[in-house]
Amino acid sequence: MEMNNIIETTEPKEKLNFLEEIIEESMAKGEKRVQTRFPPEPNGYLHIGHAKSICINFGLAKKYGGKCNLRFDDTNPVKEDVEYVDSIKRDIKWLGFDWAVERYASDYFDQLYDWAVVLIKKGLAYVDDQTQEEIRLNRGTISEPGKESPWRNRSVEENLDLFERMKAGEFADGAKVLRAKIDMAHPNMLFRDPIMYRILHAEHHRTGNKWCIYPMYDYAHGQSDSIEQITHSICTLEFDVHRPLYDWFIEALEIYPSHQYEFARLNLTYTMMSKRNLLKLVQEGAVMGWDDPRMPTICALRRKGYTPASVRAFAEMVGVAKRDNVIDLGKMEYCVREDLNKVAERRMAVLNPLKVVITNWEEGKTEMRQAVNNPENPEAGMREIPFSKVIYIERDDFMENPPKKYFRLSPGNEVRLRYSYLIKCEEVVKDEEGNIVELHCSYDPLSGEGSSSDGRRVKGVIHWVSAEHATEVEVRLFNPLFLTEDPHDTSNGQQSWEDNLNPESLVKTTAYIEPSLKEAPVGVPYQFERVGYFCVDTDSTAEHMVFNRTVTLKDSWAKMNK
Ligand code: ATP
Ligand code: MG
Repeated sequence: MEMNNIIETTEPKEKLNFLEEIIEESMAKGEKRVQTRFPPEPNGYLHIGHAKSICINFGLAKKYGGKCNLRFDDTNPVKEDVEYVDSIKRDIKWLGFDWAVERYASDYFDQLYDWAVVLIKKGLAYVDDQTQEEIRLNRGTISEPGKESPWRNRSVEENLDLFERMKAGEFADGAKVLRAKIDMAHPNMLFRDPIMYRILHAEHHRTGNKWCIYPMYDYAHGQSDSIEQITHSICTLEFDVHRPLYDWFIEALEIYPSHQYEFARLNLTYTMMSKRNLLKLVQEGAVMGWDDPRMPTICALRRKGYTPASVRAFAEMVGVAKRDNVIDLGKMEYCVREDLNKVAERRMAVLNPLKVVITNWEEGKTEMRQAVNNPENPEAGMREIPFSKVIYIERDDFMENPPKKYFRLSPGNEVRLRYSYLIKCEEVVKDEEGNIVELHCSYDPLSGEGSSSDGRRVKGVIHWVSAEHATEVEVRLFNPLFLTEDPHDTSNGQQSWEDNLNPESLVKTTAYIEPSLKEAPVGVPYQFERVGYFCVDTDSTAEHMVFNRTVTLKDSWAKMNK
């Protein structure tokens, strides 16, 4: 008996992901701290892939009582900008995370320079005068060793002198580089005397014109981690070949040994994730900007109506993988739908209107109906919606010749208006071409409290808005930006990923909204009953409201395209 009790009350052991396993192992061996960092390059806006990395780095630090730094990897002055720095900080905060300290790789330029001098003195670095082209040609291939540079065996004194003069600005861009002296025949190409510094007479967004030599990623990243005493430097899989070099610099300099661990980057179907290509979309005007709701950026998801909780839930759902894979975009939509179902208030709006006249309703009379704001949350309370003689319903909610199990409106058939009366279609009014222009319906005055006058059962419930009280608004419906699951897929005969752009990724239409939506603030999510989740867009004005569809109620796109 007792045994049984114990089994029943024991929580099932939570399954750890491989990064958690690594951390728990290192803690078991005596590591006391967990210190991570998120290291964006400020050369673009953060996207959903970065959100995944943010959730991992900040999430692990939080789970193990550690800290996560925000470090801007700003070693390339040409592509970087403060605009990006600000947007990155805003997006991380919006996701619900806060960094321990804000750092920049450029904070360490002096230290990195001093360490380069240390390596020169140890005979582990040299100044090379070869052109970029020569360096490339002499690197060899995977099957062939490289050729040593004629400048490789310069004396320490000469190297120190030249490196100092590189820093002083005596040489033109590309005239010289500083290279680590490792092994030109190494099987890992990255070890064939990697470049540590290049000359670049460019203004840096933080250090101005102080420097005209800039460190390369491989020389800067590990050392920056080491300075910040990062215990777990987590990055994406393509950096695994860089790890031995990361370790080599740290060992050669005899500094704090940070360690790098790699996980699989997030890829999504129908989604372009590279910043370089996203920038191209923005520059070429293929989208309205970095925050165009069709973009995979965090600011675009926010504008589209995604909640921080839904993005975090998605990151959690896809988990941490060791091998590259592609996640179905539908999963992300599932996560936002789940969250919005809990938090979004319900409203009524009609996207494809059909006019309905209630023939036995008194001319000019308005009645306020009571509506539930959110059945998932009683605290959201109630609101009033005006009902009057002329209303709009969705065209799809009427069929002149319905199939058998059609429970919505059809000639002679009755339907429930959400939060209001039962109506019956008495007459279909058509124009000269035979198009349906309006319906004449009668209503049952005794059906207003939810039942009918004689207990008859009506299955269909449809939404509506009062024509006189409704406001016409613009609605933007978004479909995936690409037609192919893999944007780079050219097996369909297209020349490049740009030919795979979906011409119907943005569909603008009009809708009629119930009066309470006129006060809707930008970004607050609503469920338009039976239609989908929507929010007011930043383009919206009091005179011309614009709503974004965040996500449909059901996964219609996936079904349409299967
Ligand atoms: P992109 O390839 O999109 O330009 P990036 O890797 O150059 O991205 P960084 O600013 O260098 O962008 O990335 C910051 C951090 O985010 C890095 O640790 C990187 O590994 C991680 N990251 C970038 N893209 C993804 C992704 N798709 N999934 C998971 N993590 C990512
Ligand atoms: Mg990068």
